[in-house]
Amino acid sequence: MLKTNETVLEIDLGALTHNFNYLKSKLQPNTKFLAVVKAFAYGSDSVAIAKHLESLNVDYIAVAYTKEGVLLRDAGVKTPILVLHPQPINFKTIIERCLEPSIYSARILDEFIKVAESLSQKNYPVHVKFNTGLNRLGFLKKDIDNIVSKLSDTTSIKVNSLFSHLAASEDKNEVDFTKNQINTFKSIAEDFRSKLDHNPWLHLCNTSGIINYPEGHLDMVRSGIGLYGFGNSPKEDQNLKPIASLKSVISQIHFIEKGETVGYNRVHKAQGYETTATIPIGHADGITRVYGKGKGFVFINGKKAPIVGNVCMDMIMVNITGIDCKEGDEVIIFDGSHKASNLAEASGTISYEIITAISQRVKRKIHSA
Ligand SMILES: *Cc1c(COP(=O)(O)O)cnc(C)c1O
Repeated sequence: MLKTNETVLEIDLGALTHNFNYLKSKLQPNTKFLAVVKAFAYGSDSVAIAKHLESLNVDYIAVAYTKEGVLLRDAGVKTPILVLHPQPINFKTIIERCLEPSIYSARILDEFIKVAESLSQKNYPVHVKFNTGLNRLGFLKKDIDNIVSKLSDTTSIKVNSLFSHLAASEDKNEVDFTKNQINTFKSIAEDFRSKLDHNPWLHLCNTSGIINYPEGHLDMVRSGIGLYGFGNSPKEDQNLKPIASLKSVISQIHFIEKGETVGYNRVHKAQGYETTATIPIGHADGITRVYGKGKGFVFINGKKAPIVGNVCMDMIMVNITGIDCKEGDEVIIFDGSHKASNLAEASGTISYEIITAISQRVKRKIHSA
């Protein structure tokens, strides 16, 4: 890819194709694939990602909030879209824009039926969410009879799928807990299906579930982070390609004498003669203050340059002492070889957080496959 001369997040659709094919290779041929494109496709570009996945014949798409689904419909995405975390105020929009809600509580079920009936819907597709241990969203097994009885009183909605979410699928110390979640979900599904006149499909696994628990794949899997190139383990990271590269440029170089300080609150004090570079990316772009004070770093001409002092709103300063570089040179914050997961780990966070934090102020540049 070309060198950049401003801050830009480059998105490589070829890497997305690679990750999609790799994750699919872990599945049985008839297992459906749902791509999670919430939060601007994990901080990249949800329209570009959804359209590319649509061209690869992905079966389903999921977003967290209704407005994320509306954005995709406005852009012409036709694939079924599951809204994982809708609110009653969105239900009319959900139906008007052909989005499919997660029904996660009795209140949500009642409200959705009310709106579906008021809009004269027949068999509107919904997805019933069960809580099998994450204690975040979802019904419990004991709620099944109540759900089934509400369903039998209306023709406005139809349950397309039953699903749950794993709490620790990436954690090898939680294998027993995860297997228990899988079994709990299977027994919920069996009970629910026996009380309906059709079989909704079942889905449970996120990316780490796909990789670690083939017995949990069921009818469909839901992947987010894996599509974007991270496998939640050094081994799986090698099989995936980060799709996003965050690049910037050196605006100015400073030559600092011993005892001088750099940045707000004078947090960094030079221990000797130092050279620093100022880079146009800051906490308003998603490089939050956790990366400051030497924890985070960038790469300039292949050399690692630690962030010095506090991260500012619109810039960071990095220590380039001994690095051969000049103003205007390219800076890599992360890319396919300088992985966001390493930067995240060094600063005490996770790949999910750093990539989703890259704000909308940063220009996106899409490289087609
Ligand atoms: C975000 C999310 C996913 C995707 O998880 P990854 O670990 O990114 O693969 C799957 N299912 C649900 C319910 C989610 O909220």
